Amino acid sequence: TKISPGSFYSFYRPWMKVSYNRKLIIERDLSRNFKELGYYYTLQPQIDGSSGQVVGAEVLSRWLHPEIGEISPVEFIQIAEASGQINALTLHLLDEVFIQIKDWQKKFDWKQRIAINMTSSLLSDPVFFDNFFELMERRKINPNLLEIEITEQVELIYSPQTLETLLLCKSKGISISVDDFGTGFSMISYLTNFPINKIKIDRSFVKKIGQDRKSEAVLKSLIYLAKSIECDLIAEGVERIEEVEFLRENGCDVFQGYLYDKPMKPTDFESKYLQFDSK
Ligand code: C2E
Ligand code: CA
Ligand code: CA
Ligand code: CA
Repeated sequence: TKISPGSFYSFYRPWMKVSYNRKLIIERDLSRNFKELGYYYTLQPQIDGSSGQVVGAEVLSRWLHPEIGEISPVEFIQIAEASGQINALTLHLLDEVFIQIKDWQKKFDWKQRIAINMTSSLLSDPVFFDNFFELMERRKINPNLLEIEITEQVELIYSPQTLETLLLCKSKGISISVDDFGTGFSMISYLTNFPINKIKIDRSFVKKIGQDRKSEAVLKSLIYLAKSIECDLIAEGVERIEEVEFLRENGCDVFQGYLYDKPMKPTDFESKYLQFDSK
């Protein structure tokens, strides 16, 4: 049967209105005081498999909204990006993280890098990075304690602007890592065009360890590729000990995943990982 344009209206369902409102609410509240509306962040530890020590952490945003409830960062980051609010949201997040880094430096002599996700639109926005660096200087944050994660899933359009931004980050000492590595379509061009320090092997490969020979072979070649261009490596989404064993045997020694810990509030991260170092 052919669907005439008029019959579109018979497709209307109440949930369409709900999801429409949901998006509007999210968009509206992104421009308000995020913190009062339940926006916060978590940290997930990154563990060195040979020492068992925490060698870094990734910042992962959370939003427990008073009306909507929990909203996935995948959803609200995408909305923030589409509505042009990702800039303000990320700066707010950076400021919170900077304050935390400062506090941990004083209390525990914190020396590890903290990684923050950057959407591709931010990378081509010099005003955002001006604000980023200004904030970093104002809060007196050592750039050696920072890492930015750029995802390989969205094609990072190679532009002089993006390259300039990344080179500037690198020259300041901020580390650059490629997220979701192996899942995108521009893997090789990322590695050859941009100043990459670290590769994050995507969970889609990790979870197939012990189950799929082809994925294991791809994994081995990704590790080999990273090593041959002297990139650091981390495997993400590690859930089983078998995955760690395979990865270590093949040359990847740093891990992030539920096997070690879920993303947690900074206060929990502090009591679990930092209290012991107290001087
Ligand atoms: P991502 O950067 O690839 O982050 C990894 C995701 O995997 C996180 O989901 C994390 O909680 C989850 N994860 C960690 N370990 C495991 C594991 O062992 N098993 C499984 N199944 N999952 C694991 P989350 O926190 O829901 O974030 C989803 C995505 O949202 C992130 O993917 C990132 O792309 C984006 N995101 C989160 N926070 C931010 C942010 O502050 N800024 C930007 N631009 N993007 C963010
Ligand atoms: Ca990430
Ligand atoms: Ca990832
Ligand atoms: Ca991802």
